[in-house]
Amino acid sequence: MDKIDIKNLTLDELEKEITSLGEAKFRAKQIFSWLHQKNVSSFDEMTNISKDFREKLANKFKLTEIEIIDKLVSNVDKTTKYLFKLENNYIIESVLMKYSYGNAVCISTQVGCRMGCKFCASTLDGLERNLLASEMLSQIYKIQEDSKEKIRSIVLMGSGEPFDNFENFLKFIEIINHKDGLNIGQRHITVSTCGIVPKIYELADKKMQINLALSLHAPTDEDRQKIMPIAKKYTVKEIVDACKYFANTTKRRVTYEYALISGVNDREEDAKEIIKLLKGSLCHVNLIPVNDVKERNYIKSSKEQIKNFANILINAGIETTIRRELGSDINAACGQLRKSYKY
Ligand code: SAH
Repeated sequence: MDKIDIKNLTLDELEKEITSLGEAKFRAKQIFSWLHQKNVSSFDEMTNISKDFREKLANKFKLTEIEIIDKLVSNVDKTTKYLFKLENNYIIESVLMKYSYGNAVCISTQVGCRMGCKFCASTLDGLERNLLASEMLSQIYKIQEDSKEKIRSIVLMGSGEPFDNFENFLKFIEIINHKDGLNIGQRHITVSTCGIVPKIYELADKKMQINLALSLHAPTDEDRQKIMPIAKKYTVKEIVDACKYFANTTKRRVTYEYALISGVNDREEDAKEIIKLLKGSLCHVNLIPVNDVKERNYIKSSKEQIKNFANILINAGIETTIRRELGSDINAACGQLRKSYKY
């Protein structure tokens, strides 16, 4: 029988497994803390667990297979891109970003992606498979161990669509947020989606305190459909209504991400449409100068145009920021993550 990936279990699930082995329930909490707080790489490091029990554990469970195979450090801003190898040689990427207020890690949620956004590198070869919660967690644990930096916040904005891997995403949140794990506060976690409407409602109804970011990128259905296939499934109105529901239910401000592409979505009318859509809602617009993806020929809007676009929104009372382009010299910026290693 295949061994179970022990890091993929919530504390409740681990307790059931441990008691079924005839051991006391409190042992599960000890093991959980070894796995998620102390990040051990073998059962033998669990020194408050007897040798016999450690053997039983090793017979039934395995530890997530994930290994750093390369690391690129930006010369511009010290952003670090990590390449990880998973079981069966799948490759994913994650990024460590250092901000004045603390360190953030951007993790991947899938190997590849099937959403097909025209400006994004992660989706070029389609979806390979979903990541397990343990594989999402391990990206953070490994980066923390390697960099010796404390991680303050997490963004789910690497490759993949988190809401296309919803159950594993929820499990990830439960474990990363657990007081016997890394205990990263929900308010320090941001999930970004291209707009899978039913999942936005489902998440809102869980009334968690995590932040939602919506990849808008065009304010009308016609234009959005040209760059994001998901726009054929859900209209802009349906998506924005869902985001407003999220904001009203959770009292958390929703971030609307908008990658500015020269001549595609950066006209004055586009800014005006955004105002119509968002005015009066609890929101924040994050403008991203579109990053280069060599297979795509999109060009970022000029600095001046970006500023003008931002000013139209700001003058209408919409809080707007321009995202700093971290790590673009190492292809670690938004939309540049890909399976760059072939296997
Ligand atoms: N699938 C999720 C999360 C991954 S992408 C989503 O769609 O939101 C994280 C952010 O980077 C998204 O807003 C995405 O649209 C944006 N992005 C993708 N390619 C980009 C590019 N070339 N330049 C700038 N942003 C990009």
